[in-house]
Amino acid sequence: PADQPEPDPKKKTLVILGTGWGSVSLLKKLDTENYNVVVISPRNYFLFTPLLPSCTTGTIEHRSIMEPIRNFLRHKKAAVKYYEAEATKVDYEKKVVYIKDESEIKGDVSATEVPFDMLVVGVGAENATFGIPGVRENGLFLKEVEDAQRIRKRIMDCCETAIFKDQSPEEVKRLLHMVVVGGGPTGVEFAGELQDFFNDDLKKWIPEIKDNFHVTLVEALPNVLPMFSKQLIEYTEKTFKEETITIRNKTMVKKVTEKYIEAESTGPDGQKQIERIPYGLLVWATGNALRPVVRDLMSQIPEQANSRRGLAVNEYLVVKGAENIWAVGDCAVANYAPTAQVAAQEGAFLARLFNNMAKTEQIEDELKALSLAQEKAPNKDTRDQVFAEIKELQKRLRRVKQMGPFEYSHQGSLAYIGSEKAVADISWLTGNIATGGTLTYFFWRSAYLSMCFSTRNRILVIVDWIKAKVFGRDVSRE
Ligand code: FAD
Ligand code: NAD
Repeated sequence: PADQPEPDPKKKTLVILGTGWGSVSLLKKLDTENYNVVVISPRNYFLFTPLLPSCTTGTIEHRSIMEPIRNFLRHKKAAVKYYEAEATKVDYEKKVVYIKDESEIKGDVSATEVPFDMLVVGVGAENATFGIPGVRENGLFLKEVEDAQRIRKRIMDCCETAIFKDQSPEEVKRLLHMVVVGGGPTGVEFAGELQDFFNDDLKKWIPEIKDNFHVTLVEALPNVLPMFSKQLIEYTEKTFKEETITIRNKTMVKKVTEKYIEAESTGPDGQKQIERIPYGLLVWATGNALRPVVRDLMSQIPEQANSRRGLAVNEYLVVKGAENIWAVGDCAVANYAPTAQVAAQEGAFLARLFNNMAKTEQIEDELKALSLAQEKAPNKDTRDQVFAEIKELQKRLRRVKQMGPFEYSHQGSLAYIGSEKAVADISWLTGNIATGGTLTYFFWRSAYLSMCFSTRNRILVIVDWIKAKVFGRDVSRE
């Protein structure tokens, strides 16, 4: 790779925000020779989120699903600049991104600005709390590596504290009550992993907790996993029942305190009731919310006034009402679910689009030069020759410009539900296949392994799986 120190003034500056599914998939396929590429993200690695729930119990170690961003960048043809920083504001009119180094170590300069000609916003989303009081103070989220580490530590802390000498029976029960709020795939996968941890390891290593350890999943809607087909929802609920995970459907959490949640449900008499559910561990997984930098950008663009869930984009992923700004992944609203699958396809589409745009410009420049050459041609033969070249180039230009809009191709939905079972709704040639069970679990494992970005990650994940099976998961509290 080239290590050119300064941007090339002849090229446009393309700034990419984020190092998640959308941005990294764009970077992978982007021909970086065409632009001065700058990547800005507070996370200097890519995180393979589908296996993050497994890190909360130590089935997989977190470093096995992280890939340094430098590893992607060093394989690019032309150098890419990376700044470990958060974009705090995008000034749409001035075409500038303000960035801030929020890491522990700061130099003399920790806030500055980066100008752009083209901008891709791929900053993902925040955790939704719907303003419910006490969630941020007392609950744990499951989005980043640090979250998984916090959960892993809290599980062990609850177990060890529960068996502290002279603990009252009610307190033991509370500490060992593991409550998950949100029955989307994040909540379901985490609940399944946690019950596995208890069944496979915790109850052997700490038998005293055996009678009181309990996992409850709370969901406001009538069922969990609303995006899966009916039979897979039923299969999941049945599997959870067998595994003694309690599902509390139609139960809406309204308030969280240090030791209990307050939830509203309909009682046997048909009346609404509020109950207090004591917990030791609370994992909050109720979906996505806008990041402040995205909300602020939206407020600068009148066309975004009616968009609630993120930056509204057109079929080429251009942010509506803005020129030269594109958005991908969870921060973009393009009528698809906020998933890794969508983000990755959007990123790859933008790479093709940008590669094409650069090619178009290059051909147009060549065409201009040829027209001049044709005018100045000394004789008919040369003129004819140049004319033929122009015709050929015009044909190429038409081909390059023929790029259609973004079309999402849904490969299916997959989720692990614990006890070595998974559910899958897969799009197949003949239609949809809905399957659940142990075979699906092996499919789940191989699908995610093949989706891992590097051989290094693949090997690390396999080794972790073997380690957990042979020696059990590590129950030390770090
Ligand atoms: P992200 O991958 O979240 O990346 C956002 C990036 O932006 C990060 O690098 C972040 O550090 C950076 N960033 C944040 N703020 C700023 C800022 N101010 N300035 C600059 N950079 C910033 N989807 C599936 O399809 N299949 C699955 O199995 C699956 N499993 C999941 C499991 C879990 C536990 C979770 C939480 C999600 C899962 N998803 C899954 C959803 C999937 O992870 C997201 O849809 C996907 O990560 C979205 O990609 P993204 O690029 O938009 O955002
Ligand atoms: P989600 O939005 O899919 O589900 C959140 C759930 O929380 C909803 O069912 C909602 O009804 C419930 N909820 C909201 N407020 C509540 C309250 N106060 N009390 C009780 N329940 C409440 O969120 P997620 O599971 O974090 O997923 C986010 C995105 O990531 C989704 O698009 C999902 O498809 C994707 N994802 C996919 C996978 C996978 O494919 N295996 C895994 C994880 C996440």
